[in-house]
Amino acid sequence: MKTGLKIGVLGAGQLGRMLALAGYPLDIDFVFLDPAVEACAAPLGEHIHADYSDEAALAEFCSRVDLATFEFENVPNAAAEFVAARVPLHPGPRALTAGQDRLSEKALFTSLGIPVPTHAAVDSRDDLDAAVAITGLPAVLKTRRMGYDGKGQAVLRTPADLDAAWAAIGGQPLILEAFVPFEREVSCLAVRSTSGEMAFYPLVENVHRAGILRTATPTVNDPLQAIGEQHARRVAEHLGYVGVLAFEFFVAGKQLIANEIAPRVHNSGHWTIEAAETSQFENHLRAIAGLPLGSTELRGACAMVNYIGLAPDIEAASRLPGVHTHLYGKTPKPQRKIGHATVTAADAAALQSRLAALLAILPDGG
Ligand code: AMP
Repeated sequence: MKTGLKIGVLGAGQLGRMLALAGYPLDIDFVFLDPAVEACAAPLGEHIHADYSDEAALAEFCSRVDLATFEFENVPNAAAEFVAARVPLHPGPRALTAGQDRLSEKALFTSLGIPVPTHAAVDSRDDLDAAVAITGLPAVLKTRRMGYDGKGQAVLRTPADLDAAWAAIGGQPLILEAFVPFEREVSCLAVRSTSGEMAFYPLVENVHRAGILRTATPTVNDPLQAIGEQHARRVAEHLGYVGVLAFEFFVAGKQLIANEIAPRVHNSGHWTIEAAETSQFENHLRAIAGLPLGSTELRGACAMVNYIGLAPDIEAASRLPGVHTHLYGKTPKPQRKIGHATVTAADAAALQSRLAALLAILPDGG
């Protein structure tokens, strides 16, 4: 790899910010393109403030970089194709679009032998009745595109919930999924290099609150690790994937049931900054820059806690041993991720007490 590489990133949120923080020690500079007024990665590189459909801006972006990636998976396919025609884009447009539509994403998983929840497409109010006959209740009605952090979703518990759910999100392509009575939710973070080398982080156990990730804890010797890796490998190899791929699953018995993939670094991997030999951000950069991958080994007990809406008092958090705070420079808003902390400790018992101390000072009471 030549030194002084310049990488273009489509999107300039906190994931872009943490990519840049991992890139500077490797002498990598960054150009971000993002339409948001408040783009929190912008202070860490050059920022082209433009819409993803602005071809002049995309051309300018390509002219300034050696290669490109994205940190926002809802970049329009046309923008990805435009960039990929001019500079190497990793992951490529095919990988980007694979996860953009929940229905075709599930068809992909099924074609690769990966279990998915029972589901049906819903394009009309009549379809919704027909879909409920297939999935049964409870079920989760979701928009097929653009959903994140539980947005664009409605849980149907009884037939009386159907009209309200349709009124809330109907009129656009939807999918109805049987509600999976999961024991746990886990994610598999995989990374694949340009040469096809792959590495996997330990499965991460994720706890959500109101559809938003609250805590993420890497597992140790999880019995489902090999299955998670097998599923992620199949998808990555099928897509010719390069970079970090996050694969979210429901755990039901001995099975991993696929929920969704994110073709990018992922919130459930933020703990890797302090607690893995190589962070997901560095490994993503290594992968797309054609470098050998770094070790994904866990350094010790750890957990990640998202700061949602409000951050704790920084002085109080700074007094707590083993608490590593990351603030994204975003304006606090209800239900908005504005930062996170990785809590590290020598062992599981010490981790629990450090976590309890942090949760006790969170504005929402943990
Ligand atoms: P998603 O945006 O699809 O990741 O959904 C957000 C969260 O809603 C998931 O992490 C689960 O906690 C819950 N959820 C979504 N789909 C289902 C399902 N089919 N069964 C059970 N819980 C679900």
